[in-house]
Amino acid sequence: MPVYLPSDASLPDDHHLAITWDDGRTDRLPLDFLRAKCPCAECVDEWTGVVRVKREDFAGVGLKSLEEVGSYAFRIGWSDGHDLGLYTWKLLRRLGDG
Ligand SMILES: [Zn+2]
Repeated sequence: MPVYLPSDASLPDDHHLAITWDDGRTDRLPLDFLRAKCPCAECVDEWTGVVRVKREDFAGVGLKSLEEVGSYAFRIGWSDGHDLGLYTWKLLRRLGDG
């Protein structure tokens, strides 16, 4: 599978993160959806893989920070104070595949 890299990330409005990929595709990901897909050990059970959070819990959540980590992921900080999730390029691209 090819690895796509983000060439741009921006907030077109209060409810979406837009990511443009190096193949020219742009994904607009709803923030509440993205928050519920947080891959950290608090949000997803490490052993069983069971997701502990629900999208409904994050209605209106905002994005506070977006930091590139090691050229493979974004660390996203949310308005609810949660900032443990590393969203890899691979994960974000897959979420955009919808
Ligand atoms: Zn998390």
